[in-house]
Amino acid sequence: MTNRIRDFLRTRQPASPCLVVDLDVVRANFNAFRAFLPDSDVFYAVKANPAPEVLSMLSALGSNFDCASVREIEMALDTGADAERISFGNTIKKEADIARAHALGVSLFAVDCVEEVEKVARAAPAARVFCRILTDGKGAEWPLSRKFGCVPEMAVRVLATAHELGLRAAGVSFHVGSQMTDADAWDSAIGEAKRIFDAMSEEGVQLDLLNLGGGFPTRYLRDVPSTEEYGNRIMAALRRHFGNMIPRTIIEPGRGMVGNSGIIRSEVVLVSKKSDDDAFRWVFLDIGKFGGLAETMDEAIRYPIRTARDGDDIGECVLAGPTCDSADVMYERNMYPLPLSLRVGDEVLIEGTGAYTTTYSAVAFNGFEPLRTYVI
Ligand SMILES: *Cc1c(COP(=O)(O)O)cnc(C)c1O
Repeated sequence: MTNRIRDFLRTRQPASPCLVVDLDVVRANFNAFRAFLPDSDVFYAVKANPAPEVLSMLSALGSNFDCASVREIEMALDTGADAERISFGNTIKKEADIARAHALGVSLFAVDCVEEVEKVARAAPAARVFCRILTDGKGAEWPLSRKFGCVPEMAVRVLATAHELGLRAAGVSFHVGSQMTDADAWDSAIGEAKRIFDAMSEEGVQLDLLNLGGGFPTRYLRDVPSTEEYGNRIMAALRRHFGNMIPRTIIEPGRGMVGNSGIIRSEVVLVSKKSDDDAFRWVFLDIGKFGGLAETMDEAIRYPIRTARDGDDIGECVLAGPTCDSADVMYERNMYPLPLSLRVGDEVLIEGTGAYTTTYSAVAFNGFEPLRTYVI
């Protein structure tokens, strides 16, 4: 909790639930990526938090943008950023959206199969494409599974096809998995990328871009390595695999850029038990999976929670949201320790919620309005 957020909550008393984002924290995160990965261009993953104030500040600081849709591209352009600073990083795009992005001036596209390359070649002739490869996601608390990317052998064919179809085969990308707590996770993917660079070189195509993706973590309940540590390990891996022929690299931080910049103010709606002899309580908040805390799915992300009664005796509870969907339970398998004195109406602060909250909140499930954001 920053002093600015504390002051804002005290003086403004915003209605609950809401997210408060401190731009000073986002700026510090951006500067840390700049400092510790000085040779990599930052492409902020817009989906993590597309608040106009966040995008504008990052744009002014010189950030580029990783966008997944035409709307995200428009939001990035609205900050005054040139289209050259935007990458259409989604591997799954409608051809009409590729054409629209092309018309807006975007010239860098992600692909992971020949079928997508064919779409880009038709809708954005002569554009630059990079091919995403699969990673195993080991060590990530929010792994991205097998949905995106292809095996390295296929990437060579995808990039060769791009070249044949008149596109610029630019390079390789990967994403090690979100909330990656192992700073060495980039090493093997960088090694795979080097083999693809070599194979393409044998075919007479020189790749010049390596997209290192996102995955940089934010601190929830457990410490995570520093940005400096990630920078050191990634630069060592680049040197190990590419020697003195390191290509242009880009990073696409989302969570690591905004996660720790935000706090959700929430309120206890109900504390109850299901039978008189139950050992534990159910605590219902005015926010849950459908109000913005979707990353509690499978209890993947475990947020730090603060109350004014911290220090009182604690007991485990099931923590649930306010909607009429039985899936709207955040922590049940691993119950959450909260003060036994917690009462209806108490304020509850959920930390580390600057990323992947507002964008995940439903527009009106049960009539609850989307998560309101205050950017300070
Ligand atoms: C979501 C996403 C990111 C950001 O991931 P984080 O783990 O939040 O840093 C980066 N690149 C791509 C292509 C993404 O889809």
